[in-house]
Amino acid sequence: NLDIRLRYIENELRGDQIMGTVYDLTHVRRLEKIQRDFVGNVSHELKTPVTSLLGFTETLLDGAKEDPELTTEFLTIMENDAKRLQRLIQDIIELSKDSDDLAEDRQTIEIDTFLQQQIDLYQHILKKKDITVTIDGPSGGFYQTRLTFFQPIVKNLLENAIQYSPENSQIEISYTLSDKLEIIVTDHGIGMSKEDQKRIFERFYRVDKARSRHSGGTGLGLAIVKEYSEILGGSVRVESHPKLGSAFTIILPNK
Ligand code: ADP
Repeated sequence: NLDIRLRYIENELRGDQIMGTVYDLTHVRRLEKIQRDFVGNVSHELKTPVTSLLGFTETLLDGAKEDPELTTEFLTIMENDAKRLQRLIQDIIELSKDSDDLAEDRQTIEIDTFLQQQIDLYQHILKKKDITVTIDGPSGGFYQTRLTFFQPIVKNLLENAIQYSPENSQIEISYTLSDKLEIIVTDHGIGMSKEDQKRIFERFYRVDKARSRHSGGTGLGLAIVKEYSEILGGSVRVESHPKLGSAFTIILPNK
C-alpha cells in the first residue's frame, strides 16, 4: 500500500511532519477521485443521447425517411436528445467556472427587480402550467454580489420549483436582507424523502432518474447551487415533505 509506504519513508526522514504529509496526500487523492468520478459520470450521461441520435439517424437513412409520420416522430426524439446534450454541456461549462475566474465581476442589484427579471424568463412555461410566482421582501433592497455565481443559484432553484410543481399551483420567493441575504424558494410540488434530501446536492444525483431525464434534467442544477453558494461564502439547505412540497433556503453574506 503506497500510503503506508510513504508514511514510513516520511517517518524515517522527518519524524514529526508525518501527519501533515499524510493529510495532504489524502486530500489530493480525494480530489483526484472526485474528478475521476465526475468524468466517468459525464461520459455516461453524454453517451445515452449520442447513442440514441446515431440509432435514429441510421434508421432514417436506412429507409424510415420515406414515411413522413415516422420521420416526424424520430426527429422529435432526436431534437430532445440534442437539447439534452446542449443542457448537459451548458451545465458542465457552468461547473467548470473557478472562484478565481472573473474576480472583478461584482455588481449591485436591486433584489426585487432582479428576482422579477429571473421569473420573467419563465413566463412561457409558467403560463402553460398555470403557476403563479410571488415575491415577498423589503422592496428597494440593494445587494452587491458576484452575478456570475449568484444568478445561476436563483435560476436553478426557480427552474426546479417550476419543474417539480403541479399545474395550477403557487411558488413563493421570500427574502430578508441584513448582514446576510436569505432567500427562500418554496413550492407545493412533489417534495422528497429525508434520505433524498441528504443527497440531492451531489453532482448527477436524481431522485427519479427517468423522470428527471424525460423532463430534461441533468442532475447538476443543485450541485451548481451548493458549490456557488459556498464560493460566495454562504450555504444552502432544504426542507421538504413528499407530496407537499419543498423549501430551499440560501444564506449569503452581505458585505
Ligand atoms: P435535475 O436536473 O434532475 O432537476 P438537480 O440537481 O437540479 O437535477 O436536482 C436533483 C434532484 O433533486 C432532482 O432530480 C429532483 O429529484 C430533486 N429536486 C430538486 N428540486 C426539487 C424540488 N423543488 N422538488 C422536488 N424535488 C426536487
